[in-house]
Amino acid sequence: MSTPTLNRPASGTVVRLEGVHKRFGALEVLRGVDLSVAAGTVTVVLGASGSGKSTLLRTINHLEKVDAGVVEVNGELIGYKRAGNHLRELHEREVLRQRSNIGFVFQHFNLFPHLTVLENVVEAPVSAQRRKRSEVEAEARALLERVGLADKSGEYPRRLSGGQQQRVAIARALALKPSLVLFDEPTSALDPELVGEVLDVIRDLAASGTTMVVVTHEIGFAREVADRVLFMHEGVVLEEGTPTEVFDHPRHERTRSFLAKVL
Ligand code: ADP
Ligand code: MG
Repeated sequence: MSTPTLNRPASGTVVRLEGVHKRFGALEVLRGVDLSVAAGTVTVVLGASGSGKSTLLRTINHLEKVDAGVVEVNGELIGYKRAGNHLRELHEREVLRQRSNIGFVFQHFNLFPHLTVLENVVEAPVSAQRRKRSEVEAEARALLERVGLADKSGEYPRRLSGGQQQRVAIARALALKPSLVLFDEPTSALDPELVGEVLDVIRDLAASGTTMVVVTHEIGFAREVADRVLFMHEGVVLEEGTPTEVFDHPRHERTRSFLAKVL
């Protein structure tokens, strides 16, 4: 009998948000967001600065608690459990378990500066998932090979270019064998000549069926790789569709004027 791979469903809905609201003090940053991400697909999120894109990603792995609405990953409520007809907050260790199933790649890489490249990739599976270091190390080397950094495993982050650091961050996210990877403007902090090498890695992940939500202003990349494109405006998903629908036939004036600025 084959072993079921629990954290990699071949089909179905990986992420589901329904009526998500989030406020910071008087500022309502998410004002009723619905989202559905199918397994093996790439969703690109666009929108002006301050429209709520990062907050949206952060609610998916419970880095932000929502004020109202539901967040589910693989059918499991994130951050809460159902108790009768109300929700009870999950214990921190349960939240960490849920989070370790969701990779997150940040704009500023956020590598551990005091750890080598290999140690950065090995860290979370060993400490958060309690996996055997020798086994994780072999996988980490394979991941570094995959992102083109096999020869850098013993280096410290500060000795790498931004593009290389971001590729390490991607390998680190993948080391947890997540069922979903979230990218928050992964190339925005990079010099223009380093953007391509990072997008190439993300493109390769897309081709291998990794479920991803990517906040990016790289329209060419989005056009080529995205299955769905979402345009956020002031805390709501104003427009959603295929790349052709959103880029070639935007329905809203706001989408048109945003695209005119970034294209
Ligand atoms: P985007 O990623 O689209 O630029 P964000 O989700 O980062 O937008 O932010 C949306 C709004 O929420 C911004 O006005 C931002 O200043 C505000 N915001 C984000 N995080 C916080 C926070 N922790 N406390 C207060 N305001 C925040
Ligand atoms: Mg942001």
